[in-house]
Amino acid sequence: MVGAGPTGLTLAAELQAYGVPFRIIDRQPDRVHESRALAIQPRTLEVLARHGLAQPMVDLGNRSVRLRLHAGGRVVPIDLFDSGLADTAYPYLLFLSQAQTERILCEHLLRHGVTVERGVELVGLEPGADRVTCRLRHADGRQETVSASYVCGCDGAHSTVRKQAGIGFAGRAYQQTFLLADLEVDGLEPGAVHGYLTEDGLLFFFPLGTPATWRVLGIRPAGSTGEVTLAEVQALVDASTTDRLRLRDPVWMTDFRLHVRGAERYRSGRVFLAGDAAHIHSPAGGQGMNTGIQDAVNLGWKLALDLRGTASPALLDTYPAERAPVGRAVLRLTDRLFTLATAGNPIIRTARTRVVPRLAPAVLRFAPGRASVFRTLSQLRIRYRQSPLSVDGPHVANCGIRAGERMPDAPYLTKPGFHLVLCGPDRSWPDGTATFTDWPDLVTVHRVDARDAAQYLVRPDGYVGYRAGGTDLSRLRAYLSRWFPGPGARG
Ligand SMILES: Cc1cc2nc3c(=O)[nH]c(=O)nc-3n(C[C@H](O)[C@H](O)[C@H](O)COP(=O)(O)OP(=O)(O)OC[C@H]3O[C@@H](n4cnc5c(N)ncnc54)[C@H](O)[C@@H]3O)c2cc1C
Repeated sequence: MVGAGPTGLTLAAELQAYGVPFRIIDRQPDRVHESRALAIQPRTLEVLARHGLAQPMVDLGNRSVRLRLHAGGRVVPIDLFDSGLADTAYPYLLFLSQAQTERILCEHLLRHGVTVERGVELVGLEPGADRVTCRLRHADGRQETVSASYVCGCDGAHSTVRKQAGIGFAGRAYQQTFLLADLEVDGLEPGAVHGYLTEDGLLFFFPLGTPATWRVLGIRPAGSTGEVTLAEVQALVDASTTDRLRLRDPVWMTDFRLHVRGAERYRSGRVFLAGDAAHIHSPAGGQGMNTGIQDAVNLGWKLALDLRGTASPALLDTYPAERAPVGRAVLRLTDRLFTLATAGNPIIRTARTRVVPRLAPAVLRFAPGRASVFRTLSQLRIRYRQSPLSVDGPHVANCGIRAGERMPDAPYLTKPGFHLVLCGPDRSWPDGTATFTDWPDLVTVHRVDARDAAQYLVRPDGYVGYRAGGTDLSRLRAYLSRWFPGPGARG
């Protein structure tokens, strides 16, 4: 695995849970100490909960349920993340510095005996039919050649893995340069996200918590160059608000150009791409790091079961089939949000400063509207209905959770592997099905008392793979035999 950012660290946690051997390298001597991505979506907390990592993040982070839109002298309060959704244990957006997220992931790996090899850079890669040959350069200049079954490029936007595998990264750069500062602000209502919608774009204050109380994010005025200074950020804030906010004690200030780009393929033979190596976009909507973590969770169990030798080779093809459409959807969503937030043409300017502040509260006051916005941004809506892994068997109910959809209680199904949930009255299941012995290392069985008999096979990443009504398990066995025909599968 190349790269120990949030994506690589999550993939390492997934592989570690299955006990498969792997190496994780990163060319940097230390992990990130800057805040970078700070929005953690509910779905990310759900998947990390399986490793016991959600609670430490929630304890350390800042939950914000309020958004304050400032426009035309008015303040519009929006309870965007008062979602009203009952099917997640994390119905809120969590603000936590990326430095803390990475620290929690690194400490988890260390506790489980996984060490990130730092100061080790991938400099060359030769994909072969059976192995991938990698050339690594160590911090002391030593070169190493290593042969691996698979290589995962979690090495960020400038991915060496992607370039070496000859995978294109089409897209464009946005015109604007962004300005970012983590600091203290006097005069701002604490605990809320503040968005100032102006003729020139927008300015956001996010409640970061540590190492500074606030993150300011805005568009750097055209013509400004050189290092970002406190005076420049203060001038931008003064130009965007009439609230007499005073900025002080910056801990990090920077500027950056944004791009919207997607990898042409997420897989090339034995090489996989995940996270920023596969997709980069604007931070609008707080999707970036979260999408990378979800890529890693999707890929991790498939790789692990392939390496165990029990899975059909087709299993790994479902990674690009499932995640590339999600990546494309994130690029579209963030591009639309970004255009609305920044475009200078008069119609979008009017929409930004006059229509959005008036319409947003009405849409969000309406519970289904609020839930719909929230479901999309929170990544709870992601599903894999079209995936070959998603199969609806016979006698399925017209309502309820379908194959390819997220199983809401899955965070509590923590054991690695599949979980077979058998629903129905006690007498409906013949003796022996409670222990479903054909795939003992792969499937854990749960019984749920319910009026009608039904079967749900929940994938290791918390999505329903197979569902059926009734108590006949033959189609379920056929499903498992198709995807897991290997010798180890039957114990
Ligand atoms: C200044 C800044 C501000 C940001 N703000 C936000 C934000 O507000 N919201 C948001 O959602 N996102 C933000 N992001 C983006 C967010 O940080 C990324 O989406 C996230 O880090 C992606 O994680 P990743 O693990 O895929 O890649 P990265 O975090 O980029 O990790 C890649 C890792 O690979 C390593 N690596 C690269 N090449 C090699 C090689 N050849 N050999 C070995 N190791 C290698 C790198 O050292 C790095 O540690 C910001 C990013 C930056 C830089």
